[in-house]
Amino acid sequence: MTASTFDAKHLWHPYTNVIKPGPTHKVASAKGVHLTLDDGTRMIDAMSSWWSAIHGYGQPTIIQAVKDQVGCMPHVMFGGLTHDPAISLGQKLLAITPPSMQRIFYSDSGSVAVEVAMKMAVQYQHATGHPDKTQFITVRSGYHGDTWKAMSVCDPVTGMHHLFQNALSIQHFALKPPINITGEWDDDPVKNGLADLRQLLESHHQTIAALILEPVVQGAGGMYFYHPEYLNQARALCDAFNILLIFDEIATGFGRTGKMFATELTTVEPDILCLGKALTGGTMSFAATLSSDKVAIGIGNGNPGVFMHGPTFMANPLACAAACASLDLLETTPWQANVDAIETQLTHELAPLRSLPQVFDVRVLGAIGVIEMNHQVSADQAHPLCKEFGVWLRPFGRHIYCMPPFVISSDELSQVTHAMGKLVEVL
Ligand SMILES: *Cc1c(COP(=O)(O)O)cnc(C)c1O
Repeated sequence: MTASTFDAKHLWHPYTNVIKPGPTHKVASAKGVHLTLDDGTRMIDAMSSWWSAIHGYGQPTIIQAVKDQVGCMPHVMFGGLTHDPAISLGQKLLAITPPSMQRIFYSDSGSVAVEVAMKMAVQYQHATGHPDKTQFITVRSGYHGDTWKAMSVCDPVTGMHHLFQNALSIQHFALKPPINITGEWDDDPVKNGLADLRQLLESHHQTIAALILEPVVQGAGGMYFYHPEYLNQARALCDAFNILLIFDEIATGFGRTGKMFATELTTVEPDILCLGKALTGGTMSFAATLSSDKVAIGIGNGNPGVFMHGPTFMANPLACAAACASLDLLETTPWQANVDAIETQLTHELAPLRSLPQVFDVRVLGAIGVIEMNHQVSADQAHPLCKEFGVWLRPFGRHIYCMPPFVISSDELSQVTHAMGKLVEVL
């Protein structure tokens, strides 16, 4: 059995059917913005490995940090013990996140960070005398991960609500924020979607613990950018109804939108913040849930006081070391200028596609370029073409998009936009 046949026969890939597993390319190595396949073909990774490899692959300082740490202590439990990598990372995170974020809970992956955030919200409400506040509210078209509670706040149509209907807890869904980021803000609450949010809150606030949102950029739920003013006003509604506000910045964090965090596009701060994906610069799975003192102390003063979560690999030193090195790179490299240049070039080079009849919309924010088609596109159909164009793209739903590493050169980015244009023609 060849290696590829073994893979197809025995290994599950994300969102695949084991009977018809779909094509895979075998990657032998990754360096800079390139993936090298086992037959020697090189592809620019315009996906940054699901948005995480912001500095490209094989950054010497990240590799060295992981090597140093693996030689010293790859892991140690975090219950009753602590270590420098966890402390250094905490210091670096507090220096760049919104000032009210003061308490950090490390975990293994984005979905777990969301689970932790939701448990914090429920436990806070319970501890402060609101044991009935156990449900959540969000907006349509969002994505927060694949574990149970995270899945319950994913878009009910593009998520898996039909399939898991009887097993999922019911949450509340307000309209997708209707005014996009480039649109003119309209104070009419019906037009800007806040009337819908307010109405749901008025009817259900007694049972709602928190509002969870991806600030400004909705990722895997629909690649949509909405107006930051929505978040400013949502914050006020949360305060009025004693509901915590959770920002899920797992996709947007660490520079992707042109700001270090999308929260900076607003004038408000969340009560709880979820980070993941680019946290280790794409090196390994790791995540963090940050909270304000209000939330942490609220939980601490309640009964039982302890926060009821503690993963085996919490604060894994290797992951902390990789994350520290990645954050150092953000401090020492001109990432902001790079992301601004990517934004300008994507805007310019994708704009002509807007006039094509099969294209519904083209939108760009920071290092995110999205072509929304009028019809569903197939990742499997795009798959062999990527190799031909030398650009790795993985379309989903009606979206052909790129989220390249921030270190991509202008010529390489032109190759990406050219490949996107080709996919628009043939898919
Ligand atoms: C990817 C993502 C998650 C889930 O992260 P995993 O590491 O895949 O579990 C949660 N929220 C958002 C916004 C994401 O983009």
